[in-house]
Order: sequence, then structure tokens, then C-alpha cells
Amino acid sequence: MKKMKQILLLLCFVPIYCIYGQIKMATPFPVQVYNGNNVTSIVYEIHLVDSLKRPVEFLDFTISSEKKILLHDTIYENFPKKADKNRYIKYIWINVDTVPKLLTHKIKYNIGGEIYKFSKDIEVNDVPLVSIGLPVKNGIWYMEDGPSPKNSHRNFTQATKSQYDSTQNGYKLGYSNQRFAIDFSKVGEDGLLYKNKGIQNSDYYCYQTDVIAVTDGIVVGVKDSIPDMPHPPAIEEFKKPTDYTGNLVLLDIGNGIIASYAHLLAYSIKVHLGDTLKKGDFIAKIGNSGNSTGPHLHFHLSKPDYFKVERTDIIGMFIVSEGIPYVFDDYIEYNVISGKIIDYEGITELKSEPFIYNQPKQVRSTMPYDKDIIGVKE
Ligand SMILES: [Zn+2]
Repeated sequence: MKKMKQILLLLCFVPIYCIYGQIKMATPFPVQVYNGNNVTSIVYEIHLVDSLKRPVEFLDFTISSEKKILLHDTIYENFPKKADKNRYIKYIWINVDTVPKLLTHKIKYNIGGEIYKFSKDIEVNDVPLVSIGLPVKNGIWYMEDGPSPKNSHRNFTQATKSQYDSTQNGYKLGYSNQRFAIDFSKVGEDGLLYKNKGIQNSDYYCYQTDVIAVTDGIVVGVKDSIPDMPHPPAIEEFKKPTDYTGNLVLLDIGNGIIASYAHLLAYSIKVHLGDTLKKGDFIAKIGNSGNSTGPHLHFHLSKPDYFKVERTDIIGMFIVSEGIPYVFDDYIEYNVISGKIIDYEGITELKSEPFIYNQPKQVRSTMPYDKDIIGVKE
């Protein structure tokens, strides 16, 4: 009996990393299934740290399902948070024919000259996507920075302190609230997003157009009175990151999901905290407030982490939140032949190339892709 106790005591003093290896891996949010443009994709991130916070060099990543390799590369990003430097993130976007049930991750890495191997299985969250109406009204709309593996919305994670998740035996390093966000810009009859020289907010076809409720819901956040950005844009003028969203409305649409409408026109917001809205109700007008280089509506659905954020904290609910995929009930999809957006370069005239598009096709229960052009009814 006495000997047993000694053995147990010894085991307790053996560092865990000796038994299980060094690396800790977590997926900050369940693997999401995105359906857009007749393509199905699985979208998620992997957060990685060494349990002793040492620098890691990743030599090989493999993701497979039922022995079929779905991804094989060595791409990862360093994702520091102040003194916590050796943190890593890998953004995953894999197109699949059929949605896999289980993903096997195999990682080969180097710590201090020693080569290690790591393996972990993760289930796929293949749940029906929430279906909503469009947040904008009649016209032709350009899906700027829409869902795609390469866009800036998808590849943004708000860094937080490393949070240990015992169910995953890994650390969550931040929140990706804009995983499936879309910036809506209206296309004029000339195929451009603006008239004149495009150097004033009022040049933009979307400026001061209506933003509406995508489905029934309750208003849980209103931030107003931030003036539009001047032209040319002067992002460096920002003093507080809390102003990045500009004027903002958050609509709780149930099941823990919030619809975010950002960069709204100051004092155009006609809803109040606690209001119950019906699908299609007027919310506000599109502006250019916050971290914005031209008038547009930033829209996304996300699930705030209510363990970490108060329901009265508007910016907290926007940021400390995980972006989810969704589909729009119906819209017209166009085939884009050509066209190019030129962003601000100083104060000179913008020289975007007009969009040319054809083959209108009515689509239902799908999501646009980055740079799509869609038609929205009244
Ligand atoms: Zn945006």
C-alpha cells in the first residue's frame, strides 16, 4: 500500500508534457460548413501553442478524412499577444464534395532542434444554416470582401489572452467574429460603385440607402453619433478601437445569434434598444463611419461568447464573438465578366473599371462568394 502511494506521487511530479508531447491545439469554434456558389467548404481555425510557450517551427500539416488527404501544407501564422509571443494560428478553408464527419490532423514540428509529431481528430459541425433575408434593398450589389479563404474578414482574429479549454486540452487565442462577413456596396447603372470622381461619400450609390432587418429579432445594441469618415480616408485619425465599427446596430435573431450592421450613417438609426423588429423593418441608412475607406454596409452573423462578455457591452458582443455561416433566402446571381475596384490612392480621382455582368439566375438558400454581384428585389 505504501509503495503504491509513492508511485502515484512520482507520477504527479512527472510533467504532463513529457507524457503527452509539447504542442496544444484547439479549434476556437466548431468546424463550420459553408455553402456558396454551389461549392461546399469546411471553414475553421487551429490555434497552437507549446505548453512551455517555446517557439515552434511547423514542418508539416496534414488534414485527412477516412484516409483521404484534404489538405497538406506548411502554412501557419505567428499570432502573438504582447509578451505571449509564441502562439500560432492556421486558417483552414477546404472545398469538399461531401462533408466529412471527422477530420484527422497530423502535425510535424520542431522545438529547439527536436522533431515531434502530433495527431488529433475533430468532428465537423454540419448543422442546417440559418436562412435570412438580405440586409439591403432593391438594386445590384457588389459583395466586397465576401466569404473566401483569402479575404481580410476571414483572416482576421481578435487576439485575446490564451484561454485554456480543458475539453480540447488546448488554448483559444482569440475570436474570429467576421469569418463570413460581407461588405455590401451598390453598383450603379454605369457598372461602378460611385459617380463623379468617387472622392466624396455622396458619390457612392449605396450612401444613405436603407438597411433592413434580415429576419425577426430584438435590438440588443445601438451605437450612434460617430461622424462619417472624411475623404480621403484618414484611418489614423482613430483614437479608440471601440470606434472601428462606426455606428452599429446589433439584432438578436435567436439561438444566440446576432446580426451586426456596421458603418451606419450617424443619426439615421431609427431603432432603439429592446425594440422588436419584423423581417424587412427599416433599421438605418448606410454611411461611412468607423474603420471604413468608403461607404458600405458591413454585415455578419455571429455568436457572442456570453461567458466572457456582458449583454450590455455592445462592442464586446461584436468582437468577442464567433462568425457563423448563413444563407440568404433568395437573390439573383450574376455572372461577372469583368470589372475592377480601385481603392483610394491619395486624393486623386478613382479609376475603377466598371463591372460588366450577365446571365441573371434566381438562386435560393445560398450564400454569395467574395466579389460576387447579386440582384436584390424591393
Ligand atoms: Zn467589413
